Amino acid sequence: MNPVLSVSRLEKRFGAVVAADALTLDIPAGQKISLIGANGAGKTTFVNMVTGYLKPDSGTILLDGMDIGRRSPRSVARLGISRSFQIPQLFVELTAAENLTVAISGIGTRMSLRAPAEAQGRRDKAVELLQRFGLADLADRPISELAGGVRKLIDIAMALVRRPKLLLLDEPTSGVSAEEKFTTMDRVIHAVAPDAATIVFVEHDMEIVSRYADRVVAFYQGRILADGLPADVLNNLEVRRYVTGGV
Ligand code: ATP
Repeated sequence: MNPVLSVSRLEKRFGAVVAADALTLDIPAGQKISLIGANGAGKTTFVNMVTGYLKPDSGTILLDGMDIGRRSPRSVARLGISRSFQIPQLFVELTAAENLTVAISGIGTRMSLRAPAEAQGRRDKAVELLQRFGLADLADRPISELAGGVRKLIDIAMALVRRPKLLLLDEPTSGVSAEEKFTTMDRVIHAVAPDAATIVFVEHDMEIVSRYADRVVAFYQGRILADGLPADVLNNLEVRRYVTGGV
């Protein structure tokens, strides 16, 4: 089967720093892939290039065979790649449902306010999405009143609005308490399942990586150090030395 995403010889430099060094990677549909690497290894640079937030210096990024390497973030999102951020990008003064309604409406927000039936349909879709994350009872609470873990989940729900082919999550459990981290990931996996989306998540917590990823890609100084099954990558000597600090 053709990969959903195919990245070939992707390069990005910031002055003397090589943040992406000939990155080559194929991602087939339905995989849950974790990107690991020490601070500064190049994980976010990779995510930013794939989602249109950074232009690569060279190399190609194909989504279902289409070259998206020069497209804007908005265009990439329309074509089927959604992302969440390390810090949730939410309107804190609006409620959870209102945030999702804004995302569902896209640029048609103002129109929807004049068309009650349409607005109700969008609200129903927002509540349905919250339900998938087990958050329906928080629909009418302002984001400012909600805990960090819940905000993360709502940010991920925002990314699901477009039913993406590929979902990129930047540290879904950072800022989430140790007690909440597995529940948070369980809810993410459960919520994404109906769309059978392909998930790439950046993660520093190896317990989360080994429990939820079916493939791990380890980055080091802008390069891919290892790529394979979690048990193999996490036991790789170089990965243990440069990434997880186990040697
Ligand atoms: P972290 O786990 O801390 O988020 P990371 O693996 O995501 O790290 P990147 O943020 O991709 O790493 O950074 C890769 C390298 O590129 C680092 O050396 C970083 O300092 C550098 N870098 C990233 N963005 C920029 C930028 N906008 N300007 C200059 N240097 C940058």
